[in-house]
Amino acid sequence: MTEKKLISLIVPIYNEEKNIPVLYENVKKVIDSTPHLWEMIFVNDGSRDGSVDELKKIKEIDNRVKIFDFSRNFGKEIATTAGINNCRGAACIMIDADLQHPVELIPEFIKKWENGAEVVVGVRKRNKGEGLVKKMGSYVFYKIINRISDTEIVSQATDFRLLDREVIDQFNVMTERNRMTRALIDWMGYKRQYINFEANERLHGKASYSFWKLLQLAFNSMISFSLFPLRIAGYLGITITVLSGLLGLFIFITKYISGIFYFSGPAILAVVILFLIGIVLICLGLIALYIANIHNEVSNRPLYIIRKSTSNIE
Ligand code: UDP
Ligand code: MG
Repeated sequence: MTEKKLISLIVPIYNEEKNIPVLYENVKKVIDSTPHLWEMIFVNDGSRDGSVDELKKIKEIDNRVKIFDFSRNFGKEIATTAGINNCRGAACIMIDADLQHPVELIPEFIKKWENGAEVVVGVRKRNKGEGLVKKMGSYVFYKIINRISDTEIVSQATDFRLLDREVIDQFNVMTERNRMTRALIDWMGYKRQYINFEANERLHGKASYSFWKLLQLAFNSMISFSLFPLRIAGYLGITITVLSGLLGLFIFITKYISGIFYFSGPAILAVVILFLIGIVLICLGLIALYIANIHNEVSNRPLYIIRKSTSNIE
């Protein structure tokens, strides 16, 4: 018989008034069938519709429901962070409110956790009803970020995740402001297991992550998980300087051998200017390296993470 533990469900809510009652009914069925105790944390991320009233309604009939009401829309990443920061469970499970993440899988997440996984990640097989642009966008994003970043970020891994208490505590130590919750969790390591699922279509309303918002998120996470974009200027500078330097050398050698300039004045000027631009870019690249250092210091991630449960520390 498994031990009874408190598990926290974390749901970010942005304009989900129609989904909340359905989500609650579905979740209730599933969690009541588990032997565990539950708290359901709904983080209202500044919804403009009646989401709060819906939440209040379910809170009245179920005292496991907790509402965190943001003063405005801060974004899903911050909403889930708030949930993780404030949950009390021995583990927490994050889930979207739009029923795209199948709640029936919750017991499977718990089973994997009970068998020793510290992070259980839902991996989306296919998103029914998702546009081609979004699909391609996410494909390209994961290709690029895995190429340029030290943290391995599994493509199609979603925010549908379970975190062990220990991971939660370590997560709470992180102070960086520009964050992508799932990438941060991936950075932390720990024993991981995956659960594949097929994402349903959004029940009501439409995805509030527009293409632009996603692009912004992608850029943000590339910037905070890789220094490559900063180095591009430097690389470009080196390439331009070397090429134009060689060209200049070639011009002088031909002049030396034949005694006449085969190249017009403007052409030579262009080569000289290119060479100088290359040098300026190299200098920019150098500055970028210093900024990279500052960036690293400022994001203030822990140098390392020690697994408490198996180490001799208090
Ligand atoms: N969400 C949020 N704040 C936002 C946008 C979305 O809390 O600014 C929540 C939303 O209510 C849902 C989840 O994040 O529970 C996923 O949002 P959405 O379905 O719009 O994103 P997608 O399915 O495209 O990832
Ligand atoms: Mg969705």
